[in-house]
Amino acid sequence: MCGIFGYIGNKDASKVIHEGLRRLEYRGYDSWGIAVLSSEIKMAKKVGAIGDLENANLLPKAKIGIGHTRWATHGGITQNNAHPHLSSNSKFALAQNGIVENFEELKETLLKKKYKFQTETDTEVIVRLIEQQIKLKKKLKDAIRAVFGIIKGRNTIIVLTDNNKLIAARNGSPLVIGVSKTSNEIFFSSDTLSFAPYADQVLVVDNGQMVVSDGSKLSLFDIKTGKSLPYSLEKINFKTTRVNKEGYDHFMLKEIHESSYVINQVANQDLKQYEDFSKVIKKAKNIYTIGSGTAGIAASQIAFYLRVFGKVKAISVIGADIYEYYDLLQKGDLMIVPSQSGETADVLEVLEIAKKKGVKIASYVNMQGSTMSRMSDYKFLSHAGPEICVMSTKVFTSQIAWGYLISKIVAGKASEGINNLKILAESIDKYLNAQSNHDILKRIAGGLSRSKDIFLLGKYQNFNIVKEGMVKIIEGSYKHAHGIPAGDLKHYAITLMEKGVPVIVVVSEDVAYDDVLNVVNQVKARGAEVIGISPRSHLGFSQFIPVLDIGETSAIINVIPLQLLAYYMAVELGNNVDKPRNIAKSVTVK
Ligand code: GLU
Repeated sequence: MCGIFGYIGNKDASKVIHEGLRRLEYRGYDSWGIAVLSSEIKMAKKVGAIGDLENANLLPKAKIGIGHTRWATHGGITQNNAHPHLSSNSKFALAQNGIVENFEELKETLLKKKYKFQTETDTEVIVRLIEQQIKLKKKLKDAIRAVFGIIKGRNTIIVLTDNNKLIAARNGSPLVIGVSKTSNEIFFSSDTLSFAPYADQVLVVDNGQMVVSDGSKLSLFDIKTGKSLPYSLEKINFKTTRVNKEGYDHFMLKEIHESSYVINQVANQDLKQYEDFSKVIKKAKNIYTIGSGTAGIAASQIAFYLRVFGKVKAISVIGADIYEYYDLLQKGDLMIVPSQSGETADVLEVLEIAKKKGVKIASYVNMQGSTMSRMSDYKFLSHAGPEICVMSTKVFTSQIAWGYLISKIVAGKASEGINNLKILAESIDKYLNAQSNHDILKRIAGGLSRSKDIFLLGKYQNFNIVKEGMVKIIEGSYKHAHGIPAGDLKHYAITLMEKGVPVIVVVSEDVAYDDVLNVVNQVKARGAEVIGISPRSHLGFSQFIPVLDIGETSAIINVIPLQLLAYYMAVELGNNVDKPRNIAKSVTVK
């Protein structure tokens, strides 16, 4: 899930690429590197998140170059494994986003043929395979085409040549080209946001296509046939430069504070589009909601709302875990997919298979121009603005608020749904603006930061919410957290309840209220410390986090204190809040 970036223009290439990589850093931050062409290809690489320009400054001034920010899949996190990787004759440098799934056998064959390897990456296999094709007298572009026929997996590469060209080929991972007509600049990147302030037009490259540019011309080709393809550039209709913290200590805190804004965005969208979509839902044979990580939990909550309010049978499945459904997918089915990036590799793979079986796809994506949106029959954008913190907060809130509204519309209760979302947005705003709430959460986060294990219990509308709380706590604090259906606790995890164990329980005033309070008492009786998130305090709570009771959307407001708990724990523990270790925001590898 790396980020790749390329630049051709009159500015200092290494500086432009460095800034581009900074904007792509959410895709991985194990190491980064830049290659530029002056009299020859020169490279600078560094382990860790994109630092200051120090390293890029070592590079000569140039008008063309490529960069990469890495989330390592093959080979340790070392300077040597950092991309770009140079060809043996220094004629080209290459960076990759993806995984060469058959890299071991390819490497073995190449080694037998006396090809030498300097790194442990699968990327270097691509470099050596290109060299092998060039030896067969192929031009670089055709060599790359041939290699794409050999390597397996979802891969996108960008190549800088020593004759002033950028070549990029896409099969799986995203690739977009930005063009500024006014300043004669061309950008290659993994996402549009990275160059949005500088380019006015964009070309979204499709799977199986490659792009070649020398700055004056931009050509698109079919990888398989090598034939030139016509294309038209789309206007970039967002010029956002909103990538600063606006006074907050971290992007995470800023983005949690944008929750009410994103809910209003859901409530204020075109009702007609929602209503048309609700008819599709009602007609669908089977409805699947799919996602990975936090979006997988959102998918599960969307299915919950569709069942409870929409009265339609919806099944949620984790993107990476759908195999057992493949034979069941059929024409007339509908897949609903929430995603921040719209580029999640394991979900894209599911969609490709589902599409072939005639399943219709509906996506709810935050990034404009994503692969997921483009392959969807029904496209919705969350308009939540850039989410920079790797831990998703406001986008999750937006996804479940969207799911709630859609299911109310399916039930024919659009205005009630919209009204409830407005009340929810106001209530969240009130919650976030009361310092007393933050004081309570900071104090509790301080205690939780000293615990080894943290349990979370919820039922009915709050089960997915505690699972999301678990994910946030794990991501932010690197502590072991465990979200359990409250009713299931007594069947196994009760063995773990002992004196002082922290158990966060989320209780709303709904059908599950009494059941959950029974569990609170069972847990308390074994000495556990119950931290209750609820509209009302209870004798069983050792600590109480008050939230408003807002009826049907209560689960959505309950997410906020859990996100803040994870935030204050990360701060307390001195962790990198916006970039937790080992994960990346957009998981574009399987
Ligand atoms: N497989 C390459 C590496 O490990 C690229 C990884 C990625 O795209 O996430 O360096």
